[in-house]
Amino acid sequence: MSNPSLLILPGDGIGPEVMAEVRKIIDWYRTSRGIAFDVSEDLVGGAAYDVHGTPLADATMDKAQAVDAVLLGAVGGPKYDDLDFSVKPERGLLRLRKEMDLFANLRPAQCFDALADFSSLKKDVVAGLDIMIVRELTSGIYYGEPRGIFEEGNERVGINTQRYTESEIARVARSAFELARKRGNKVCSMEKANVMESGILWRDVVTEVHAAEYPDVELSHMYADAGAMQLCRWPKQFDVIVTDNLFGDLLSDAAAMLTGSLGMLPSASLGSPMANGRPKALYEPVHGSAPDIAGQGKANPIASILSFAMALRYSFDMGAEADRLEKAVEGVLGDGVRTADLLGEEGVTPVSTGEMGDAIVAKLSASL
Ligand code: NAD
Repeated sequence: MSNPSLLILPGDGIGPEVMAEVRKIIDWYRTSRGIAFDVSEDLVGGAAYDVHGTPLADATMDKAQAVDAVLLGAVGGPKYDDLDFSVKPERGLLRLRKEMDLFANLRPAQCFDALADFSSLKKDVVAGLDIMIVRELTSGIYYGEPRGIFEEGNERVGINTQRYTESEIARVARSAFELARKRGNKVCSMEKANVMESGILWRDVVTEVHAAEYPDVELSHMYADAGAMQLCRWPKQFDVIVTDNLFGDLLSDAAAMLTGSLGMLPSASLGSPMANGRPKALYEPVHGSAPDIAGQGKANPIASILSFAMALRYSFDMGAEADRLEKAVEGVLGDGVRTADLLGEEGVTPVSTGEMGDAIVAKLSASL
């Protein structure tokens, strides 16, 4: 049997720096656990534009479609800010998501005990927090037609359209219910059924899928604005939250900040199962290319390393190995090892990106 395949797309800014640390972890699994991946690497974002004149070459898109999972760093940077919209670095990422049909975006908000002081909320509100936001990623107002800026009478009007089909809602609801069964068995669905027809349909379809296929999972509904308040008031009431593309964009960023630094936050974007049963999948840190610290060895690689842990869990069914990696990260943080973004305590000297990766590898070795 051939090894599972990975395509690494480091991208721009700190992307290549943090992905180099992911490679150390991948190497550790091969040499120390006999778990080998066939790894290839290619360009995305500004790095691809510089070489190909496009933020994602067709050949790279084909590779992404063929592998078991894509690991992405980050795209973008000031050098590319003035490019035409159609070739901006972000278009490469959007193309990957759209053509791989990655409709379920999983954003965990998990608070490591060692970092509970980093939250802007009180420690007891966030300590031990472990929630998962499932955001619909390929439809809704970011894609709906008509869209554009039009002339109407003597002024301009900007139009975007929120549009969801029943099947689009049902498939992301299923992703959320499946996840809940492996976690706390609770799903809270968020929309604005009080003011939006698409919200009424969302609530109806989630309720139908629940009744027909997942009656064992506890389901609740909340208006998205109330959900935002509850996330700040008492986030531990939630297990899995499922919501649309626009509300998910906002709610997942808000939930992320409950846990401290951007440098800690992983994500997964999953699509339908491929012929081998694995879902189409792209794993990436939530943060961007951080041009302000790029090339200085200051970037925190943990978000990317935890994204690889999600790949182990959701693409390769290696939950125990994902636990091992997450525990190694927790252990290193418990030892007080900190990159510059995690500093707060007096007298702690920050480690570099590479030193953080090495510390996690050492913890992995200690786990054997
Ligand atoms: P950013 O996430 O790149 O940075 C925000 C702040 O967080 C910066 O101060 C940065 O130094 C810090 N930061 C981010 N990741 C860090 C890490 N791993 N370790 C330590 N500190 C970290 O967001 P931004 O500054 O708004 O955007 C910069 C560029 O990234 C822009 O071109 C933007 O379009 C792009 N971007 C890309 C993605 C993506 O690739 N998915 C996401 C967001 C932004």
